[in-house]
Amino acid sequence: MMRTKKLFLVLVAIGAPVAIAAQAQQQAQQPKPEETEVWQPVPAVVTPGETPGAPPSDAVVLFDGKNEDEWVSAQDHTPAKWIVADGLLTVAKNTGNIETRRHFHNYQLHIEWRIPADISGTGQGRGNSGVFLASTGPGDAGYELQVLDGYNNPTYVNGMVGSIYKQSIPLVNAARKPGEWQSYDVVWTAPLFNADGSLKTPAYVTVFYNGVLVQNHFQLQGQTLYIGKPFYKAFDGAPIKLQAHGDKSEPISFRNIWVRDLP
Ligand code: MG
Repeated sequence: MMRTKKLFLVLVAIGAPVAIAAQAQQQAQQPKPEETEVWQPVPAVVTPGETPGAPPSDAVVLFDGKNEDEWVSAQDHTPAKWIVADGLLTVAKNTGNIETRRHFHNYQLHIEWRIPADISGTGQGRGNSGVFLASTGPGDAGYELQVLDGYNNPTYVNGMVGSIYKQSIPLVNAARKPGEWQSYDVVWTAPLFNADGSLKTPAYVTVFYNGVLVQNHFQLQGQTLYIGKPFYKAFDGAPIKLQAHGDKSEPISFRNIWVRDLP
């Protein structure tokens, strides 16, 4: 009995430091929360708009209700001749499309638009306009996010409101009635091209329509053509263009347009 106890005490005497050392080693090997903390780079401070939809502090304001100085004719780059009145930018007949003076690559865009309450016409002839996310020249189709009356107005679904024209059907129809203000919030990733003009990476677009997701990181197949299959043509930075579709019905108005450059 005594011998067993003695042996036990010897074993304890030897084992205790070994156990402590093993425990210390185990603790040293334990991952620490600090190992997965990242402290650099610190994101830039941006002051959000005072109300939802208002431009944040780092936005380029493209239309704030006062003038159309940021816009030119898409055809000849002379000053834009749409109507600025009552804080709105409204399509003027026979003046054509307008586009931004500035060129953009990747960006976040906010734009609000209204189809008149007394809109007439049907299908593609009812409240047709468009936000061209890259306007690559008068001879090009560009990349159109469709604007159209989508409230009880059947048309081909890859050309309805919220579609990437003839390429991507919107996930849902979130249209408001004609006469009500509507909004697009867009994240545009421009395509990149190799030195020989071939496509390096395609364009992607995410769109919220009246706050509802309608395009979720959609990969474009190229320009949004009216006829034929889409294809890419190299460009480097482009204006954002608004469409004057030339319908007989009452014109569409825009307000509160701003954009933020993205990396
Ligand atoms: Mg259109």
